[in-house]
Amino acid sequence: MTRPFYLTTAIDYANGDPHLGHALEKIGADVIARWHRLRGEPVHFLMGMDEHGQKVHQAATAAGSEPGPWTDAISERFNTTWHRLHCSHDDWMRTTEPRHTRAVTALLERIQATSPSHLFQGEYEGLYCVGCEEFKQEGQLVEGKCAEHPSADLVPTRERNTFFRLSAWRDDILASIESGELRVEPAIRRNEILSVLRSGLQDISISRSRLPWGIPFPGSVDETVYVWFDALINYLSGTGYPDEGWDTLWPADLHVVGKGITRFHCIIWPAMLRAAGLPMPRMVWAHGYVQWDGAKVSKSEGTAVSLDEAVDRHGADALRWFLMREVGFEADGDFSFERFDARYASDLADGLGNLASRATAMLVKYRDGVVPESPPPTTLDDAAMALTQEYVTAMSTLALRDAAAAIGRLVSEADGFVSASAPWALAKAGDDDALDAVLAALARTLLRLALMAAPFMPEKAGALWAALGQHGGPEGQWARAERPEMAGMTVIKPENLFPKS
Ligand SMILES: [Zn+2]
Repeated sequence: MTRPFYLTTAIDYANGDPHLGHALEKIGADVIARWHRLRGEPVHFLMGMDEHGQKVHQAATAAGSEPGPWTDAISERFNTTWHRLHCSHDDWMRTTEPRHTRAVTALLERIQATSPSHLFQGEYEGLYCVGCEEFKQEGQLVEGKCAEHPSADLVPTRERNTFFRLSAWRDDILASIESGELRVEPAIRRNEILSVLRSGLQDISISRSRLPWGIPFPGSVDETVYVWFDALINYLSGTGYPDEGWDTLWPADLHVVGKGITRFHCIIWPAMLRAAGLPMPRMVWAHGYVQWDGAKVSKSEGTAVSLDEAVDRHGADALRWFLMREVGFEADGDFSFERFDARYASDLADGLGNLASRATAMLVKYRDGVVPESPPPTTLDDAAMALTQEYVTAMSTLALRDAAAAIGRLVSEADGFVSASAPWALAKAGDDDALDAVLAALARTLLRLALMAAPFMPEKAGALWAALGQHGGPEGQWARAERPEMAGMTVIKPENLFPKS
């Protein structure tokens, strides 16, 4: 069996509701997972929740709840939301699950056995950001505050903990990123990480004392595992580590994370794995943030947009489309309901939806829905082939916004082709051959569009696929986008894919 493509998203803190910022990441990763499945590759897609740490404990206490029932409810809420957004994860990892505790303990014991001098007792004094669950160094502060949580106060903290000799791994990690053994993308994030590495690394504290909500530190009676050290290991827990067979999934092919946590994923996590003698992940992709009037969308900064409100507006697929097409998966991008409405109208209702409706209606009207035998090329086929190739290149480099743009351009090409060839005039003039050529090219283009749109809008693409007389789903059918064959198949007019509200 081919080894599955193993990808993960960051796991979110169980301290509030899911918001648009979380959604961008999950949807982007889901588009990538679906793209691999579309090409017939086996995929293992992991998502989950980060349920330990001070922040979660504080949130539960503030709500008058115990952390256990609190995290149960939040985990359920997140997972339900991701399903509502058509996320197709194969596994849902909660860091409070016994299988995760087992993996954390096993990895720490393996580091103790493999690199015993890399764990040592020490004292740490510094400014702690509970929002990040991280000690902040002077150089990371913006006007004395955490850059990610400017409205929160940093807490001076002094602790005697177990430390991890992160500094020892600097040269190794630097070389791995430079050589591409560990790919960090996009380039702007790679350059940031390389500059952090070049300026040197400090050893990090990886335990907390007397924290009531965490995984007991192996071999210690009064320490728990630092929440970040715990959380990162979820990617390994998802493979079944340390049980036999875990290495059929590891190393992970792709960790999708936000740009604010690259240091954990591109430095600390690879070092932990190296210290245990395990392979590093192959790639980390760090996306930008969803912004609302130029500010990061986040609960702690009071700029969260209700995710349910955003889904209710035009449906889950439309929100997926907007986030990928307009906000993007690389740099920061703005969300606004005005832009969402405008894109919905232009790209979907008047774009793909209208094209699908018109083209199938003409096939039904002029040919009883049966696609005529009229092989390519036409000018539309040529344009479609070029845009299909552009799409493949973009998807393969995770340039998801460019891939979505290629879909939009193909819709425009098809609209232009309809106007220029005026099938109604050909029908009136009785030019059957010319009409067949136009209708057949449109049918092939719709098939391509259903396949290209499938990772972005699985529900709507599936409806179009079915209307084109195709059975099953588009999964595994990508080859048909490269060589679409529709002659003799019967199409129907799909239900209005993107109704105008
Ligand atoms: Zn912070």
